[in-house]
Amino acid sequence: MKKEYHVYGCVLFVLNQKGEIVKVSGNTSLYGYSKEELQGRLFSDLRVQKIDNGELHRRKDGSTVTVSVHTIKIAERKVVMLCHEEKDYLLSVVNTIEVGAMLVDKENKVVHANEVANELFTKNEIIGKTLSELLPSSVNFRQKYAFTLPVNGVYRLQNKEEVLVYSLIFDEYAMVFLEPVGSNETLNRLNFMAYHDELTSLPTRTILRDRIYQNFSLARRNGEKVAILFLDLDDFKRINDNFSHRHGNLVLQTVAQRMLSTLRESDTISRVGGDEFVIVIRARETKNIIRVVRKIREAISQPIELGKEKISISSSIGISLYPDDGTKAEELIHKADMAMYKAKAKGKGCYAFYDDSLTIAAKEGTRIEHDIQLALQRKEFELYYQPIVSLVSKKVIGAEALIRWNHPKRGLVLPNEFIPYIERGPLIMEVGEWTIEQACQELKTLRDKNIQINISVNTSATHFQQMGFAQLVKQALKRNELSPEDLIIELTERTLMEDSPATKSTISELNFLGVKLSLDDFGTGYSNLKYLATMPVSILKIDMSFIRYILTNPKDAEIVRAMIGLGKSLGILTVAEGVESEKQFERLKEYEVDAVQGYYFSPPLKSSEFVEFISETNNPL
Ligand code: C2E
Ligand code: CA
Ligand code: CA
Repeated sequence: MKKEYHVYGCVLFVLNQKGEIVKVSGNTSLYGYSKEELQGRLFSDLRVQKIDNGELHRRKDGSTVTVSVHTIKIAERKVVMLCHEEKDYLLSVVNTIEVGAMLVDKENKVVHANEVANELFTKNEIIGKTLSELLPSSVNFRQKYAFTLPVNGVYRLQNKEEVLVYSLIFDEYAMVFLEPVGSNETLNRLNFMAYHDELTSLPTRTILRDRIYQNFSLARRNGEKVAILFLDLDDFKRINDNFSHRHGNLVLQTVAQRMLSTLRESDTISRVGGDEFVIVIRARETKNIIRVVRKIREAISQPIELGKEKISISSSIGISLYPDDGTKAEELIHKADMAMYKAKAKGKGCYAFYDDSLTIAAKEGTRIEHDIQLALQRKEFELYYQPIVSLVSKKVIGAEALIRWNHPKRGLVLPNEFIPYIERGPLIMEVGEWTIEQACQELKTLRDKNIQINISVNTSATHFQQMGFAQLVKQALKRNELSPEDLIIELTERTLMEDSPATKSTISELNFLGVKLSLDDFGTGYSNLKYLATMPVSILKIDMSFIRYILTNPKDAEIVRAMIGLGKSLGILTVAEGVESEKQFERLKEYEVDAVQGYYFSPPLKSSEFVEFISETNNPL
């Protein structure tokens, strides 16, 4: 009877002594699980029952699938292959396994052999030969299906070399592995396949943990520290986006290679995620660790050639220490990861050590998230409005909406105390949606009072880059019967500089709608002036850090003057933020800034006070 299987390709598992899956290759869509999800599970957990023509296995979605299971045991490892006559897959295993391997048909004839196998049978043409011809001294034969094959025995080749032979038997073919006796190559290679990343050949997480513990005991013995470095490439996504996936892979391989040649053989490097690496080093003193960190960063940042172009890539590194920050591998990797985020927050190409405040901040973060969820339900947020005043007319031409949290216990909470905690997560969208709707309602109220000013709202990168952001703005405007020019969206220079396709598409959608963009905190990012010329930005908000020293630091003063000049020549309105004194105001007037915002005119005000402020300023008696 012909066996009936779903067409699924092949899957190769390597199991350890406990029967846990340590490596999966091939097509795991058969199970609906990813490779990562399968790793570490017991192979037997997949099995529902053995049946006549194979085994019934359980998929992720609960359904079952019939599979044909083939196993061999090599030393302590068990290799399980689920396969039904996909010759291509068998061939690819034979070609990549790096020990002698051949594919043999039902007549016992070799149909394919890899290079290592060819070398073992020097001078002899092996394709078309039978196994008994090639391995004349074979004695242990095993009867299975239609095959007569040597199984796990030692055989003497014609050149007198002794080889160990293993075979994996399928319906139409059998795979035969050969290795010189005593070399343990097959096991090593299978182990290697199980423990190493296919792209960079670096060890994966499984082996990393082992190595970390080895380092702990060595460090204890030598009175050293173990440093766990968590390294993440900056803007790696951009390489994949701007070049190709293949180029991205090339960058990862180059980076891996450079780290290997920078570090000592006793150090461990592992790839733990797409562009994330963990490095384990031992050192007597912190300054030695820093030296290594700098060396790695330096090596990575050297230009990399991608086709005709040269790129350079920086890396952010977080560091945790054994025994200072913990004594468990997972814990230290996690802490180094947290420190890496701290490094990223400092800018690109930085490093940072873990400290306990990060754990406190993380805990604080989850608490704050919960509190913010409640705050949204309980309507504890409020928008304050800070007037933006025209320099020429001295009238209020607009306002910036600034969020405040009326906390039941803490009183008035300023945005810097809660926005950063939610900025990367999904909550920022809810808060952002609320802000936009609220600002639109305020505008509606102003219109009803016949006050014609616009309102700027702040946005976070995560929200701005969300698909449908422009649509959200459009809906809010429509609901409140406003026109697009009533609302201005502030985005920070950093968001703009991230240069993601998502940012670009939101920008062009907003531009299409007719909603103006204001570039916030101008001067604090890595200004790429080219963006200003190409992006539809209507307003530049000169960051208050420049205004603060405009009277005392001539360099800051010159920068402000230049920024205003730049705005003028590009036809972009300039607004100076954080103007606190008359003297600053006078200086800005001299430089011909278009508008100012700051305590000199008014702090952010509650809605009612703001309306009062406008009528006093714009309609003086
Ligand atoms: P920002 O966009 O740069 O806002 C200007 C900040 O400067 C405001 O702080 C404002 O109160 C303060 N400020 C105004 N005039 C002066 C002055 O003369 N001197 C000084 N020293 N400060 C002045 P605030 O309201 O605490 O907001 C801080 C930051 O929080 C904002 O910086 C903005 O990045 C963020 N933020 C505020 N509201 C929102 C919001 O609704 N959504 C998002 N995503 N972020 C917001
Ligand atoms: Ca702002
Ligand atoms: Ca600002």
